[in-house]
Amino acid sequence: MPEPRGRGETVPVVIALGAFLMTLVGGWVAHRVTDRRHLVLGLAGGLMLGVVGLDLLPEALEAAGEEIHGVPAALLCFVLGFLAAHAVERLLAVRKAAHGMDPEERVPQVGLTAAAAMVVHSFMDGFAIGLAYQVGREMAVAVAIAVIAHDFADGFNTYTITSLYGNARNRALTMLGADALAPLAGAASTLLFTLPEQWLGIYLGFFGGVLLYLATSDILPEAHHDHPALSTLLCTVAGVGFIWLVVGLAA
Ligand SMILES: [Zn+2]
Repeated sequence: MPEPRGRGETVPVVIALGAFLMTLVGGWVAHRVTDRRHLVLGLAGGLMLGVVGLDLLPEALEAAGEEIHGVPAALLCFVLGFLAAHAVERLLAVRKAAHGMDPEERVPQVGLTAAAAMVVHSFMDGFAIGLAYQVGREMAVAVAIAVIAHDFADGFNTYTITSLYGNARNRALTMLGADALAPLAGAASTLLFTLPEQWLGIYLGFFGGVLLYLATSDILPEAHHDHPALSTLLCTVAGVGFIWLVVGLAA
């Protein structure tokens, strides 16, 4: 029987406010690009790696550690999450190539479709914060760090991709606004139900795989794209170290 909800009920939504603000910061920086962006992205990649490997996976294993054909369910779902994110990205690229589209070609609808996909993704970010809160307060904080850290990139990319394909500035701002509100909606949706602990572990394992894919295939390459710098690498290592420190203090 689910425990009665008290004053803590809206906590995931309050945490998701951080995601809302960070998304807007990312969009604002995209609007006025600075050359410190690579450091922020490098740090975000390190924070995500730290949260997934040092916090999310250990928790997911504890919640869903029973084995399926010799492998813990949580780790199986971690691999599935990574593969799913990779498959979605590759299938979108294949479709684009099949339509004979030059990546440089500016079709406004492509920008809007990509931005809409970002909004769906950000909804799932908020959803994960809400589910993590059902595991416990510390878990919610860990997931929130991973989400908020990469929301800078989410907001940055949503604004950039919309305007890159020739959409007017107010359209890019509208998509940015939707992307910023999506985590709030995702977190709020989890107030409507309670998942059994085992399912939470499975979902968090899956979400960890998605996060690690984003960090390794999008965020870190983007961090080093324009400025291959040692300082960016150091920010990534510092991000991992920070999470280790926080996890150790909480244990
Ligand atoms: Zn995100």
